[in-house]
Amino acid sequence: MALAPQLESFEQALRDAILPSELQRHLEVFNSLQRLDGTEDERRSVEYIAEELRRHGVRCDVFEYETFVSRPGPGRLQVIAPEQLELPTRTRAFAPSTPPGGLELELVWVSSGNEGKGGMIFAHAGREEDFKGRDLRGKAVLTTGGRPDGVMYAQQAAAAALIDVWPSDEEVLHEMTVSSIWGTPTSDSASRLVRIPVMTVRHRDGQRLQQMLEQGPVRIKLEAEVFTGPERITHPVASIPGTTEPERFLLVGGHIDSWYEGVTDNGTANAVLIELARILATRRDGLRRGIRLGWWSGHSQGRYAGSAWYADTFWEDLHRGCVGYLNIDGPGCRGASVFDCRYTMAECQSLVERTVDDLTNLPANVRRPFKAADQSFWGQGVSSFSVYRMLPEDHPDRAVVGGCSGAWWWHSPADLIDKVDLDLLTSDTQIYATLAARVCGEPILPYELAPIAGDFIAKLGELQEAAKGALDLSLAIDRARALERVASDLDAVRARIADSGDPPQADCETLNAGLLRLTRILNPVLYTEAGEFDHDPAIQLPMLPGLRRVRNLPDCGVGTKERLFLDTALKRQRNRVDYALLRATEEARALLGQV
Ligand SMILES: [Zn+2]
Repeated sequence: MALAPQLESFEQALRDAILPSELQRHLEVFNSLQRLDGTEDERRSVEYIAEELRRHGVRCDVFEYETFVSRPGPGRLQVIAPEQLELPTRTRAFAPSTPPGGLELELVWVSSGNEGKGGMIFAHAGREEDFKGRDLRGKAVLTTGGRPDGVMYAQQAAAAALIDVWPSDEEVLHEMTVSSIWGTPTSDSASRLVRIPVMTVRHRDGQRLQQMLEQGPVRIKLEAEVFTGPERITHPVASIPGTTEPERFLLVGGHIDSWYEGVTDNGTANAVLIELARILATRRDGLRRGIRLGWWSGHSQGRYAGSAWYADTFWEDLHRGCVGYLNIDGPGCRGASVFDCRYTMAECQSLVERTVDDLTNLPANVRRPFKAADQSFWGQGVSSFSVYRMLPEDHPDRAVVGGCSGAWWWHSPADLIDKVDLDLLTSDTQIYATLAARVCGEPILPYELAPIAGDFIAKLGELQEAAKGALDLSLAIDRARALERVASDLDAVRARIADSGDPPQADCETLNAGLLRLTRILNPVLYTEAGEFDHDPAIQLPMLPGLRRVRNLPDCGVGTKERLFLDTALKRQRNRVDYALLRATEEARALLGQV
């Protein structure tokens, strides 16, 4: 799609205004602050950002609230039989401390089925089937499938502790949280608080333990100290209002807290957000819609508590006005060269692809979101998109981690300013500025609807096959196809009006309002099980999470109470999908009649 000349000059002006020296100045500040949640250094970072924004004349609210945080303390891991030795270890956020004197336990190996696989840490989550049917009662589980998913399943199997073997072999130990609860716990989700101590070991040490287990029983002693409790945290949000649709805004966010100094996770993003505020503050005329910039606290030691708090506190505001969420995490890492746009919903795919192509001539490699990275706004139906640049799989710095472009220094004391490539960080900032210019500056939101229907069709088709006749999803599939047809017509009309030069404001408003109504109907169903007003667990769930247990149907005996419960749950979730597709199709037809 061609850009109107005024939009082209707006985004070019934004890109030209970015100053690498400003980015560098902020990085030097973050390089000296260990920003764990609820600490003095985090508070100082918040004050620094708020002061910078005020200096540039940008409105900045600093929110202060109570949430539930967890900071790992010292830990000790000893093998006491068949030989005695001590291994380097780290405790885990949200796992409890051991009782005084520690815990002595028998060790047992649980294969995760993902050993030896590369990619990101998220692909190494423990699976329910790895733990089911094993007698783990009172034992310490040794697994490469630890972290929130594995810990949850180990706890369900009555294990007494978990030792998380890092899947890739690097010198450093990585910090991590093991809670599956998204944000501050509720009275209900608190039942999922971690009750067993969890510690981590390097890959080589885990292998050594595994070899010992092959020879016979192994006993270990664990000592762990972890602080967990309610604490007050703060975070800043900057707002720059739009000129034509002042109640609508793009939300751009990145976490402000870190492990250690965390310069590339997430000091670089914090610097980018300040620079975006600075360059947009003097070019507000180009913003038809506004922009909000959030530096979330509570990400690393609060399991996305800051963005979840913001979602809960400003629910209606976001539901009515938020036209998109762009999460920024770990830009500007040295060596990063391959795009992996992994939190991008279907409606934003073409926007992300053409922007990455326009600026770098590289493929965007778009992937759909999974529940991580401050994706707290799915209940409101907010469209999400992201641009991440990664190290290639064969890069010497590459490891199995969850951020820092895939580099080994993630969540370790080595994540310092020497890991930043300022040219890459400047280029990343240009991409984010361009995306902001397009989402906030184009008369009609640059989103396509038919690809959302395409996601429904693909997922429902997979589930229909997996059900092996035990649940019929054909009504939903028919409705998704009907939606795709009318959505394609709507996308064609939108493109024609957008390309017409100077589209009438009334048409733009009709289309933008209609587009937002449709995402509000479809996205909560496509991405959540908990629905509009709650948050799903911070574990790996597929799209259409409410129907994921369709896959359990063929193995769940007819006539058992488990089957009765499962059938009941799935009937309700199928109703939810059927009805959302019907409503969306009616809405899209009505919209088509108006433009
Ligand atoms: Zn991060």
